[in-house]
Amino acid sequence: MSTKPLDKRTIIVAGGGIGGLTVALTLAHQGLRVVVLEKASGPKEFGAGIQLSPNASRILLDLGLGDALKEKWTLPKNIRIFKSRTGEMLNTVPLGKLALERYGSPYGVIHRADLLQILHDSCQASPDITLEYDSNVDELAAYPRGVTVQATNVRTMKIHEFSGIGLIGADGSRSNIRKQILDDGPPKSTGFVAWRGMVSARKAPDGFSGRFTGLWLSRNLHLVHYPVRKGNWVNVVAVLRQQSPGEGWSNIGDPDILNAHAKSLCLDIRELIATVKEWRTWELFDRPPAKFISDGPVALLGDAAHPILPFTAQGGALAIEDAAAIATALVETDGKVPSAFRLYENWRLSRTARVWRESRKNSQIYHIPYPMNIFRDAWIRNSQPLDLLTRYDWLYGGGKTG
Ligand SMILES: Cc1cc2nc3c(=O)[nH]c(=O)nc-3n(C[C@H](O)[C@H](O)[C@H](O)COP(=O)(O)OP(=O)(O)OC[C@H]3O[C@@H](n4cnc5c(N)ncnc54)[C@H](O)[C@@H]3O)c2cc1C
Repeated sequence: MSTKPLDKRTIIVAGGGIGGLTVALTLAHQGLRVVVLEKASGPKEFGAGIQLSPNASRILLDLGLGDALKEKWTLPKNIRIFKSRTGEMLNTVPLGKLALERYGSPYGVIHRADLLQILHDSCQASPDITLEYDSNVDELAAYPRGVTVQATNVRTMKIHEFSGIGLIGADGSRSNIRKQILDDGPPKSTGFVAWRGMVSARKAPDGFSGRFTGLWLSRNLHLVHYPVRKGNWVNVVAVLRQQSPGEGWSNIGDPDILNAHAKSLCLDIRELIATVKEWRTWELFDRPPAKFISDGPVALLGDAAHPILPFTAQGGALAIEDAAAIATALVETDGKVPSAFRLYENWRLSRTARVWRESRKNSQIYHIPYPMNIFRDAWIRNSQPLDLLTRYDWLYGGGKTG
């Protein structure tokens, strides 16, 4: 990351999720002041895990978060791929030391609340970052030399105005900022619903705890699990094709629906599913790649810019890459915001579109029906483990400007 300092001027960030807090840090590292407006009352994250592939962990480590991450994350040794009907292990994708050596940064897994807390604490420790919680961003007005934003304090209902040389919309897949600059409607449902839950490692059935990520494939559902909180908990995500579970994107799931999808799967999977006490459901949305993600002094980042299916585990990683790219673009353009945001957009559009396509492709491969699943399973079984990793060299070895 370049260390050439920029003038002390203010950039406003709408949204204090993974993307918003990371961009606050990358901009402050370049000498800018940042105001983050977040509608929640503090750093709140849903109780689930997140995988941090090397393209993301590299940026977090560059920001000096290594010690804090080491306290909280786990570095899985590999990804084990299973056939869900029979429980057969088809292959393993090496991670651990090999990923570290190959990409220069580790592949980690962490509880989302831990990651958000680490980012929040680091922002709070920076004299150049102001975190304004309870602030719902409503209106923006862009001028040639900057932008003014109106935000409602959700406790007092008072309206506050914030001005800066630029605005970054990091306000998630239903971004209000996107609506105001692109006005391209809400994201589309993909017909998939993710079921998320946690199991204490002590209570998890044999074979589901330990330093590895499990990926279980079947037409009816695919399931991913990995350790969080130093291996004391197992994060479980099952994804099925299902009708919308209703308004809101984090509802309590009715286990009968999940059990019906899992009834033809092996006992191991059914036991794991039965061990999870509470399931939360998230309808999965995405958008085809946009033609632009900036407009003058306003840019979009993370899910606001490019919401994707989680089948490459990259939505958060791309938000982190965006954060690094936007700061680098500002340095390269001497802090000229509209030019920097255009450069950022040029760097990011093709890579994020490629990840969107890859995620869509994996949604087909993971849920492929009989008899094509026989060919998929044979291909995985007969692949060299290293080849299963290196087909993602472009992703894990790539990064902020590509
Ligand atoms: C099942 C599942 C598994 C996933 N697994 C992975 C994974 O393993 N690895 C990975 O990299 N990614 C993963 N993702 C994707 C990842 O969770 C998202 O891409 C990531 O959280 C996006 O971060 P963000 O900061 O852009 O948006 P968000 O996390 O949605 O944050 C947006 C923030 O903006 C705030 N906000 C919204 N509107 C306003 C407003 N008007 N004013 C002020 N604040 C506002 C919100 O409160 C929120 O805090 C997964 C997603 C799902 C659904």
